[in-house]
Amino acid sequence: MKQILVSGGFGFIGSHLVERLLAEGHQVHVVDNLVSNPIPYSDLIAELPNTHLLTCDIADIEWYGSHTHLFPYQEFDEIYHLASPVGPAGILPHAGKITRQVIEGAYAVMNLAYRRGAKLVFVSTSEIYGGGIDGLCSESMSRVIQADVTVRLEYAAAKLAAEISLINTCRVRDQYAVIIRPFNVAGPRQSGKGGFVLPRFIQQAMAGEPLTVFGNGTQVRAFTHVRDIVDGLLLAMEKGRNCEAYNLGNPANKLRILDLANQVLDVIQPGGTTVFMDGKSIYGPLYAEANDKYPDASKAITELGWKPQIGVKATIEDVHQYMTRDERVME
Ligand code: UDP
Repeated sequence: MKQILVSGGFGFIGSHLVERLLAEGHQVHVVDNLVSNPIPYSDLIAELPNTHLLTCDIADIEWYGSHTHLFPYQEFDEIYHLASPVGPAGILPHAGKITRQVIEGAYAVMNLAYRRGAKLVFVSTSEIYGGGIDGLCSESMSRVIQADVTVRLEYAAAKLAAEISLINTCRVRDQYAVIIRPFNVAGPRQSGKGGFVLPRFIQQAMAGEPLTVFGNGTQVRAFTHVRDIVDGLLLAMEKGRNCEAYNLGNPANKLRILDLANQVLDVIQPGGTTVFMDGKSIYGPLYAEANDKYPDASKAITELGWKPQIGVKATIEDVHQYMTRDERVME
């Protein structure tokens, strides 16, 4: 049994990771400020029993840890850092503060991992590519910072700065860290609150409403089921090379958003309709569309032995079943 800390462990991806770690018999410690947990806290506690929870910002972990006497003597074998503002709409209220939150969180977790001698998996974002080359994003490519300053750019630039700082830190002191860049994660428990498209489309289809396709729907993404992402996180912890970054995204699921909308309609509301609109009309002027993006996942597949398996239709069906079964309000 390992002692494992998951920051953001009550978030969407974090909760699936914690579930898997608990099933494998580990002792799991979660640090989460519970600001953007996708389902009610009481449900998470019920679904993830035997988890030690410290409720605070990750940046404050040492201070809270010592004052609550929860963590001061706790050794960790592994730390997964997922705590972060998330979602194209979810990040907007944090405009101007994202840089500080991401960087302070990264330093806090870096130092905690160093002091405890724990291996660290740092969850970054595919946004750092700025769209790669015609949407294809490979770890070997240069990152491009767009001219247009948006909140999305602040998020991407902060994550990139944290990655660079982590890599250089691991080069100058005895510390082991691996970076993960997820691409459009989807699955049960994801909430439409952050603006994520799949729970929004499914909820709209279930309500018999037209699906709100932003722009002309030709923007390209590759959706990746959260269970495949969790597989990748565990493999990264086990086999990832120090200071290396790995894309986790399923290239087989590459599609245009309009095609995603049509697939959702096929599964849930055949004959249903779509409506084209500007995302700003829902989320306000700070909302920004990302460039097309889909992964070159060959590095994770070859080096980590990662095998993403779940297709788009199965992901839609899984989320639909979850939302039907749980009747949760996914705003
Ligand atoms: N999108 C959409 N309708 C919505 C919400 C999102 O067409 O109601 C589009 C959005 O413009 C983007 C894609 O779906 O091109 C994926 O959006 P999401 O917010 O899930 O992730 P992103 O890749 O933009 O960070």
